[in-house]
Amino acid sequence: MSMKLGLFGGTFDPIHLGHRYLAEKAAEAAGLDKLIVIPAKIPPHKIASGLVSEQDRLEMCRLAFADLDCVEVSDFEMKNEGKSYSYNTVLHFRELYPDCELYFIMGSDQLLTFEKWYRYEDILHMAGIIALSRGEEDSVAELEAKAASLGAEDGRVIVVKTEPFEISSTAIRDAFANGSDPSCYLDKNVVEYIVSRGLYAPAREEAVSFKKKYSAYRELIKSCLSKKRAQHSVNVANAAVRLAERYGEDPEKAYVAGLLHDVCKELPPERQKELVLRCRLDISEVEKNAQPLFHAPAGAVYIEEELGIKDEDVIAAVRYHTVGCGDMSKLAQIIYLADLISADRDYKDVRKMRRYAVQSLEKAMLEALKFSLSDSVGKENSIPVCTLECYNRFVMLSKMKED
Ligand code: ATP
Repeated sequence: MSMKLGLFGGTFDPIHLGHRYLAEKAAEAAGLDKLIVIPAKIPPHKIASGLVSEQDRLEMCRLAFADLDCVEVSDFEMKNEGKSYSYNTVLHFRELYPDCELYFIMGSDQLLTFEKWYRYEDILHMAGIIALSRGEEDSVAELEAKAASLGAEDGRVIVVKTEPFEISSTAIRDAFANGSDPSCYLDKNVVEYIVSRGLYAPAREEAVSFKKKYSAYRELIKSCLSKKRAQHSVNVANAAVRLAERYGEDPEKAYVAGLLHDVCKELPPERQKELVLRCRLDISEVEKNAQPLFHAPAGAVYIEEELGIKDEDVIAAVRYHTVGCGDMSKLAQIIYLADLISADRDYKDVRKMRRYAVQSLEKAMLEALKFSLSDSVGKENSIPVCTLECYNRFVMLSKMKED
């Protein structure tokens, strides 16, 4: 009987117990003899902007599976120049192990978008797939439907029916950044490694040393917002800094705009409206008449007039953080998304949204706008023209990418 070999690729930034759970459940379901863990290459500019190095990710993977002889950690993708496609990885191991039965292991988020992978049909010809649900929103039924549709194209897709283990590297990085302790989701040797190498939190602290400069703004939001909303504002500021680091935007501007985005939200509505009417950035009739939307343009006026903020990017990011607009700057997109993925958010699809946000700003914006528009339509709310323009822009960008 031929050997059954599993390939398990990922960013592993950091590797967590959800990864280990997936590996174990997949190995059990398909009776794997050997598993190869393959950390992905990360473009050098992302490492420079504060992400963990390849060497550290490789080492953490080794530590996380050190107790299992049947697991090997491979630097195949990291060693290769250029973009790493799973297709090339599967091809490499197919050639290295010509006689074995090959499987590629993945979480539900990957299976559900598998048809977008480069040469996914060829991957399916070379290897079977073993997939596990990552949470309630990716139901086993949905995965089985996807498996069937892929199976119809001659693939072998196994959906493992087991309880999901809901954790992600993003949530772990967020927890470190917010000063909470995510150790219970990590192998203890990985925790020791992170601490001894000063990964995640210390790097970020260094990157955001400017936070000290803005203690007055933090005091301000504490004094004019409820405790919960003030904490949300800090979380949005932290999430915005991380997105800014990732996408080459100024983290300091992101921090300020994130911190102040809701500064007017608890002012009396008539005071908010007064400010809205003074806003020099376009305000649609819809926004002039929808009280839940007042606080964003009101905030833009307030931070300029009362706090003396002159930076147009920061003002526009606060202005458009609820409705978006057709020519939204990168900073404005970051604040819009940080508001949706901050550590305190717990709506149904928040994990998906967090993942989109670290994958691509454009993709995340499109998904966020789709969600927001269908929600508004469902509630029969009027939709500001700028939101439609914003949606159209991201649809167009997404279409251009596909072509
Ligand atoms: P991030 O939050 O940074 O996107 P991640 O937690 O999704 O990271 P990756 O390294 O991107 O981790 O994931 C590698 C593979 O492991 C992917 O196929 C992913 O779907 C899967 N995976 C990650 N976490 C889990 C989990 N908790 N349960 C099942 N599969 C998971």
